[in-house]
Amino acid sequence: MTPPAIMWFRRDLRLSDHPALLAAADAGEVLPLFVLDDRLLKPAGEPRRRFLYDCLRALDHDLGGRLHIAHGDPVDIVPKIAGKIGAGSVHVSADTAPYGRERDERVQKALGDIDFVRIGSPYAVTPGRVRKQDGEPYRVFTPFRRAWLDHGWRKPAKSGVDSARWISLKGLKIPAAKSDYPAGEQAALEVWQDFRDGPLADYDTGRDRPDRDGTSHLSAYLRWGCVHPRTLLADLKPGNETFRSELAWREFYADVLWHQPNTARENYDRKFDRFKHDTGKAAQQRFQAWCEGKTGYPVVDAGMRQLLAENWMHNRVRMIVASFLVKDLHVPWWWGARHFMRHLIDGDLASNQHNWQWVAGCGTDAAPYFRIFNPITQGEKFDPNGDYVRKYVPELRGVQGKTVHKLDKLPEEYPAPVVDHAHERQVSLDRYDAIRTT
Ligand code: FAD
Repeated sequence: MTPPAIMWFRRDLRLSDHPALLAAADAGEVLPLFVLDDRLLKPAGEPRRRFLYDCLRALDHDLGGRLHIAHGDPVDIVPKIAGKIGAGSVHVSADTAPYGRERDERVQKALGDIDFVRIGSPYAVTPGRVRKQDGEPYRVFTPFRRAWLDHGWRKPAKSGVDSARWISLKGLKIPAAKSDYPAGEQAALEVWQDFRDGPLADYDTGRDRPDRDGTSHLSAYLRWGCVHPRTLLADLKPGNETFRSELAWREFYADVLWHQPNTARENYDRKFDRFKHDTGKAAQQRFQAWCEGKTGYPVVDAGMRQLLAENWMHNRVRMIVASFLVKDLHVPWWWGARHFMRHLIDGDLASNQHNWQWVAGCGTDAAPYFRIFNPITQGEKFDPNGDYVRKYVPELRGVQGKTVHKLDKLPEEYPAPVVDHAHERQVSLDRYDAIRTT
């Protein structure tokens, strides 16, 4: 008789289009397992944890209540459960982030003779596979995207669970905390269908307008694998190139992190190790004002308050607030990245750290450092009627139209600007010159 298999879910919380699950189901009886691992849960922040718990509830429901939940270090837990049920194999979708890779190496070792089978990953093309002809990784997005498209990916896999025979074991309860967002595979597919049949047609222009609902809101679902990017890519038509490119950015940053795990914490461009940041008391106070959305710059404050209220922020505004923190307040990018990771429901190490580095000028693609966003003109351009600002900054609700972006026309109860943009811009440029020329 074939020994049972374990399907260890991690960032693949769905049943359809799931090659690892298909392979596990092929092996015979399957125990579906999720391990609550404090090494990942503790730094995740409450909003992301709550969303995860809801995704687990949805997966458990789809599995007829059979998802086995354990809590602890997977290196101890997975082999222990495998021994208990006499498993012949443990199936996973590959985790390519630094901690996941190292953990999986140790789990595989601890499993001894039990097969540890990695199939697929949370990406259309598993990080590390797209390479230049000389085998080197890509350092710039555009050629990566071209090679990624040429590489291609498999068609969405058919559902693998119809014939599976599930094993139930008594495990822990999923923590009760709930998210404000609908979670799980069904919710992800509905969010995708609404977007695909609506805003996708105007995505090229709509995506840059925080005052409109022009983006997919799929990031948190992609983060936990409630839907695989392959499923989205298969639905795209010619003309959906911009959306395809956004998914390619996600793949690119995962690839960068795979090749250089240190870039989660360190500057991708090491010349920035010499860059002067402000970290003293005044900088800490300004950082606090930024976190609370009280900088006196309307679009920055609206973004930071959207983050606190909804645990999500529009991409254009993420770029504006990140630029403001690094280039107007001169605070290290990793302070901002940490704040984002704590609050974002879609917080993802590869996308977050590398987007921050891109804005800070020390990342891939040599984003010219001197491209410093002007927080006033950005607001006027991308929130032209001021609706986005008024939605998140109650003190400005009485200010009509685009006047919300005029600093000298704002009411007294709104904070005064923490810094002068024109002055701080010059400070940043001088500091950049100092590392460029030494
Ligand atoms: P859509 O516009 O609908 O895009 C579709 C999908 O493409 C997104 O869900 C996402 O998976 C991917 N995508 C889009 N833009 C990017 C990008 N610039 N980089 C990588 N992937 C992208 N995205 C995260 O998923 N997690 C993060 O922690 C994160 N941190 C960020 C920090 C900063 C400073 C910046 C500037 C961007 C960050 N992003 C992050 C990228 C982007 O802002 C979000 O993916 C996007 O806003 C999510 O909304 P959406 O799903 O509606 O996006």
